[in-house]
Amino acid sequence: MAIKPQIRKDEYFDELEVMTVEKREAYFESRLSETVANAYKNAPAAKRILDDAGVSPSQIKTIKDLELLPVTRKSDIIEMQRSNPPYGGFLSIPQNDVERVFISPGPIYEPMQHTGIKWFAKSLWAAGFRKGDVVINTFTYHMSPAGILCHEAISDCGATAVPVGTGHTEVTVQAMLDLRATGYVGTPSFLMAIIKQAEELGYNFKNDFYIKRAWFTGEMLASSVRQTLEKDYDIDTYQAYAVTEPGGAIAYECSCKDRLHLMDEYIVEIVNPSNGKQLTDGEVGEVVVTPVHNNTWGLLRFGTGDLSSIVDDVCPCGRTTKKLTGIQGRIGEAVKVRGMFVVSNQVESLFAQYREVAKWQITVARIGQRDEMTITAELCDDNCDKIKLADEIGNRFKSICLINPDKIEFVPADTLPKDSKTIVDNRKWD
Ligand SMILES: [Zn+2]
Repeated sequence: MAIKPQIRKDEYFDELEVMTVEKREAYFESRLSETVANAYKNAPAAKRILDDAGVSPSQIKTIKDLELLPVTRKSDIIEMQRSNPPYGGFLSIPQNDVERVFISPGPIYEPMQHTGIKWFAKSLWAAGFRKGDVVINTFTYHMSPAGILCHEAISDCGATAVPVGTGHTEVTVQAMLDLRATGYVGTPSFLMAIIKQAEELGYNFKNDFYIKRAWFTGEMLASSVRQTLEKDYDIDTYQAYAVTEPGGAIAYECSCKDRLHLMDEYIVEIVNPSNGKQLTDGEVGEVVVTPVHNNTWGLLRFGTGDLSSIVDDVCPCGRTTKKLTGIQGRIGEAVKVRGMFVVSNQVESLFAQYREVAKWQITVARIGQRDEMTITAELCDDNCDKIKLADEIGNRFKSICLINPDKIEFVPADTLPKDSKTIVDNRKWD
């Protein structure tokens, strides 16, 4: 839904957002050369990727030149880290200089150091968070980066952060009320769950609470949910597209809410997933990201597996970046459920320990305003203790993938189609 933008005096987070086309091109080319040279010199994995492609760092001068390099995907990083632990050769600073390590599903170890990069602050700033706001941060503070990086971004905007994390709905409702929280950071589903809980407790959310704006990532914001939040509850909603492996938010909405501005901390390409060749503006392909401000980790051309397109239009807000249209689907066998990635080979390693299970499939559906995940497992022996098995699988799944499956169903052998996909995403986002 496009609303008339109100451009504030302090609208922009930095001068990068309003560079001219020529300035941005020169900026990207200089950042790119430096990034590739640094990765080649300091990250053995990046050196090997360039050497194998027969490309020298000096050949990568423009965004178009990136096509000379292969796309590196989540599964490649997992494999490289497994054979060369812990960082797979991507670390490009001395190990002692690593300030923190995140663990994303896979598992992927993501080293970080203090770089001065505002991973999420620019997008929270564009959403209007400022000093005086009290912001409830409902992303998990464990292992994956979202909780801590969003917390820091709330502080970077001058606002007060309340680190509630995921899943404590009732405590969160109470804290929002007691602290007169004005902002929410998290997934749209969890905000809807909070509102529902507050209403069940007898509150009128619109009148009794103070939430004025909400910022979402990790899950697409369906237009029906946006409408409910904005019209029924008077909450100004914003969304950002974030990818953890290369760092943080890649694209974010401004007050026009008409597609997502690209962050200048990354080079974002849209490519044909089968050959890595760049597509033209407007064409749908895989989102491929190269961070150009992160010298900690020599990750070039990270293939997100997300499908989208880029458009180049003039935005009334005054930002001059190109924009990413919404995420239109996933390539391959990984899926984001309630903000967490479920990767096929993680689930494969779980089921490898259960001889009773011959085959499995995960189905993700959108029920109301929530992602619902069902695991279907084919049993070799129908007489086993299904309740105990479901319990064990559920617990192990939670400990590996960090989210709970909603249903675990057992079916007799040969029920699932022979060459069926392991993960099926049935969600529609309209
Ligand atoms: Zn804009």
